[in-house]
Amino acid sequence: MTQQARARLVLGNWKMHGSLAENELLLAALRAADTNSSSQIGVCVPFPYLAQAAQALQGSAVSWGAQDVSAHEKGAYTGEVSAAMLKDFACRWVLAGHSERRAYHGETDQTVADKARAALQSGLTPVVCVGETLNEHEAGQTLAVIRRQLTPVLALGADAVARMVLAYEPIWAIGSGRSATPEQAQDVHAAIRAELAALGTPQVQVLYGGSVKAANAASLFAMADIDGALVGGAALVAEEFLRIAAA
Ligand code: PEP
Repeated sequence: MTQQARARLVLGNWKMHGSLAENELLLAALRAADTNSSSQIGVCVPFPYLAQAAQALQGSAVSWGAQDVSAHEKGAYTGEVSAAMLKDFACRWVLAGHSERRAYHGETDQTVADKARAALQSGLTPVVCVGETLNEHEAGQTLAVIRRQLTPVLALGADAVARMVLAYEPIWAIGSGRSATPEQAQDVHAAIRAELAALGTPQVQVLYGGSVKAANAASLFAMADIDGALVGGAALVAEEFLRIAAA
């Protein structure tokens, strides 16, 4: 399937940034975004600000979501937030397995797949993040790492995977100012696309994440298997984020 057949998606990951006052300005600027942008646009905000995002973005071209979800449906899991709770706030997206969750919260490849499944069961679209460390990158292990991370996710089956978004985020590129080159990213995206094609789900959107800015977005989006971006730091500046979406 050609890239043209897959919609472009640009998602912002606010991480642990924001306040009610700061968000108000950012959300208002996003709300005013051109609805004719060539990209679908969404923001993944901290849990406490979901209600604010829902209220500010309702009826606009910008969708919203969360940055994590519990793998459990409900119960004695203090501090966790279920997929059904996210659905209550009309979330469309939820990140699963962001590298910061994997690194600082011990999320395993299987946990990430369990979270993706929980999200799907509540009608959310999980954005499953994969990516290698700098050491793995330099040791030539990138594709082996990505395949290992994807294995339990793809094992959820074609029907499930067809309703997901994947994001390739090399850890060495996240927040570092050093994006993968378009060619480096394309090589990995092509390998992910081959895995998806083997499962019968080649149409799944695969985003690139890692120091995406307005200045490098167009060259990344020009690659055949890059369907958009997951954007961290640059998503906190409305003008920059919208320029990425328009790239
Ligand atoms: C991210 O947090 O997913 C990310 C890609 O961050 P940044 O764009 O800041 O590298």
